[in-house]
Amino acid sequence: MTTEYKGIKASNGIAIGTIYLFNRVEVVVDDSKIDESMVDDEKKRVKAAIDDYINELNDTNGANEAQINIANAHKELLQDPYFSDTIDAKIAKEFKNSELALNETINEMVEIMSQIDDEYLKERASDYKDIGYQLMYKLKGIKPKDLSLIEKGSIVISKELTPSDTSNMNKENVIGFATDLGGKTSHTSIIAQTLDIPALVGMQDISSKVKGGEKAIIDGDEGIIILDPSDDLIAEYEIKVKEQKEKRERLQEVKDKEAITNDGKKVEVSANIGNIEDLKIAINNGCDGVGLFRTELLYMESDHFPTEEEQFEVYKEATQMLGEKPLIIRTLDIGGDKGLDYFNFPVEDNPFLGYRAIRLCLDREDIFITQLKALMRASAFGNLKIMIPMIINITEFKRTLELIDEIKKEFDENGVDYNKDLEVGIMIETPASVFMADKFIKYVDFFSIGTNDLSQYTLAVDRGNENISELYSNYNPAVLRAIKRVIDESHKAGKWTGMCGQFASDTQATKLLLGLGLDEFSASSAKIAEVKDTIIKSSQKEEEEFANALLDIESPEEVEEKVKKHN
Ligand code: PEP
Ligand code: MG
Repeated sequence: MTTEYKGIKASNGIAIGTIYLFNRVEVVVDDSKIDESMVDDEKKRVKAAIDDYINELNDTNGANEAQINIANAHKELLQDPYFSDTIDAKIAKEFKNSELALNETINEMVEIMSQIDDEYLKERASDYKDIGYQLMYKLKGIKPKDLSLIEKGSIVISKELTPSDTSNMNKENVIGFATDLGGKTSHTSIIAQTLDIPALVGMQDISSKVKGGEKAIIDGDEGIIILDPSDDLIAEYEIKVKEQKEKRERLQEVKDKEAITNDGKKVEVSANIGNIEDLKIAINNGCDGVGLFRTELLYMESDHFPTEEEQFEVYKEATQMLGEKPLIIRTLDIGGDKGLDYFNFPVEDNPFLGYRAIRLCLDREDIFITQLKALMRASAFGNLKIMIPMIINITEFKRTLELIDEIKKEFDENGVDYNKDLEVGIMIETPASVFMADKFIKYVDFFSIGTNDLSQYTLAVDRGNENISELYSNYNPAVLRAIKRVIDESHKAGKWTGMCGQFASDTQATKLLLGLGLDEFSASSAKIAEVKDTIIKSSQKEEEEFANALLDIESPEEVEEKVKKHN
């Protein structure tokens, strides 16, 4: 009987294949104590297991970019002295055997990481779990299952897949996967996106619903897996798979083209990145530049405020990688939901409306100046632009410009190189900046619309609150009018507006945004080719007429309906 299960979409695409149920070898840990005379030997066993795993990780032959990143992340965690010292201490002081000491240490690390309210750092918890499995297998002499050896055309179903499980996957054998656990931003999701195979996560108990060997369809676009599909359904999906293949081939050709509409409007299609690794992927995917480099990660991954030199090295590398292409780096947008271990944020009732981003930077100018100096020095190496987040009034921007001018003076006196024509723009992510766009545009070089926050603040709908997620819509006419107003003000002044919020990655909205007059789309790397493809096939004039008519519609549902039909 055909059955259908829903999951969280982790990677797009459709595949028809056979289920392979992947069960991890479960290890039972013996909790007996060891004799004092065994301490050294047990410590040596742990060290040998760690060294052995590091050696394996060093062999990146045939690995793709994402897999190399994961290997590097694991090496870093394994080489952290705190990790091995904690295990050793449990052996030497508490006389625990090596397996038990490892198990407890991993559980503690997972617990610590899971509690951090940050998606990216939470992901370290799954890395620790993964490391735990791999080291345990080594201590026990167990050979882990290798997914590269399974039959071609398999859809892997598992409780969870660790990055190591996925590191041997190749597209021929594994054509899709679905897991009970995991989130959209997990490493396994990222691997699926790089392999370009459909994947679903957070499916709760799918692994107990299958036996293995069943025929199945995985539809990453709709977020469903269909078990034992009927012949009719298979035939229907075979057509979709064919269309998908053709589309992929077309996008592959489009990705490095310029995005110019058929009536001649040139649009930049840039990428959103958080670090150098993201930038490599963006460049591979044909980005025209970077429209948003979120610098928070640099601060969040450090145990101190990164020094000017530490920041300069990263910004310089990114600038040089892009050559002539623009690299828009956003200054620190910390606070709200993003904290730092080494900084005491005030306890606030509404942190999203609180001490964050530019507010913090202007309160702690020492922190801000360090970053501005690093950015300005890096500007000598390419086409770097600075972007300021969460601006609500002109005074904030004027103070920022004053600081930049003071730094310029200091650099001039000391012969430090920087780009004298360095452009500075702001993010439009508050209603205040929308209403004041005509004033802001006199001082800024460009606008970039951050719809993630702009929609949240315009609609007074918390962007992370599931209870009201239905109300959070970029298609709300209020949001569209805000976007239009900002773009128009920038054009009147002969300047440009980009968009770095998620709305720019929503390919259903590409024509609409083009019609509203957007000059730059800064999207997720995976969406660059599709955005370009739509722009190349569209006429700006026609889309403008369509968008203008939409601005008169009253409900978000009707807007979205019309947009869907129009596409
Ligand atoms: C935005 O608000 O749209 C944005 C791009 O910034 P972030 O998602 O980092 O808040
Ligand atoms: Mg924002």
